[in-house]
Amino acid sequence: MRASLKNCKRIVIKVGTSTLMYPNGNVNLRTIEKLAMVLSDLCNEGKEVVLVSSGAIGVGCHKLQLPTRPTEMPDLQAIAAVGQSELMNIYNKFFGEYGYTVGQVLLTRDVIDYPTSRKNVINTFNKLLENRIIPIVNENDTVAIEEIEHLTKFGDNDRLSAIVLEVIQADLLIMLSDIDGFYDSNPTENPDSKMFTEIHQITPELQSLAGGKGSAFGTGGMFTKLAAADKVLKNDSKMVLTNGNQPAIIFDIMNGKNIGTLFAKEALVKGETGQ
Ligand code: ADP
Repeated sequence: MRASLKNCKRIVIKVGTSTLMYPNGNVNLRTIEKLAMVLSDLCNEGKEVVLVSSGAIGVGCHKLQLPTRPTEMPDLQAIAAVGQSELMNIYNKFFGEYGYTVGQVLLTRDVIDYPTSRKNVINTFNKLLENRIIPIVNENDTVAIEEIEHLTKFGDNDRLSAIVLEVIQADLLIMLSDIDGFYDSNPTENPDSKMFTEIHQITPELQSLAGGKGSAFGTGGMFTKLAAADKVLKNDSKMVLTNGNQPAIIFDIMNGKNIGTLFAKEALVKGETGQ
């Protein structure tokens, strides 16, 4: 059923804060290093990899040794500015160990919506990938605001990763969270929850299973992941939602193993078109 995932060439990987940070607020270097190894090896295999990474505020809080996460926007934006460069520093070091250079791509919604800047964004991605550089994407927190007349905010990185997939016409989005997949109820509250292995369409019934906000560190929860999946399906691409705690399972996913929840149109799965 999942054999066509092998043929996916351009892959977006989204990693959430809960994968990058320990619950105590420290950076999870072990997982980040493994993630860098796996993504580097996918590139060695000939895949094109784009990483959408959250974590700027979490890493910034850690770097500045803040006891609690501030709530005021200017504080958060300043913390994100510190955390983003620290995070890139960490990625740069680990990817560098496997022979890869990374490039930071900070986006706001207006540049994606405006045709000329959208084209520039596409050109940048293509040039980076052509040169075997791994783009690491985040929202540009310094300028992102939520004003209707000048909408610059994506809202969350789940949505951003689906938009990146669409903009660069990627084949697959692998969304790494702190949970093994999408369940019929919140598994942290209900141990009898069952995981969906495959979803072909995002329905209001599914959305009603998404629960509210996720973990203490995450901001998206399942609702935004389903919204991202909906966008991916409309783009005729595929998405796998899985746990990021063991990044090596990305190899198994690419080999078609039944891991996590696969979101793909039924025709694409049945037809094994290789798209
Ligand atoms: P991330 O930080 O990785 O983006 P979040 O913490 O925002 O992830 O969201 C993941 C959390 O969503 C899970 O840990 C779980 O507690 C919660 N959740 C709520 N409903 C569901 C569901 N139906 N299936 C899976 N997880 C769910």
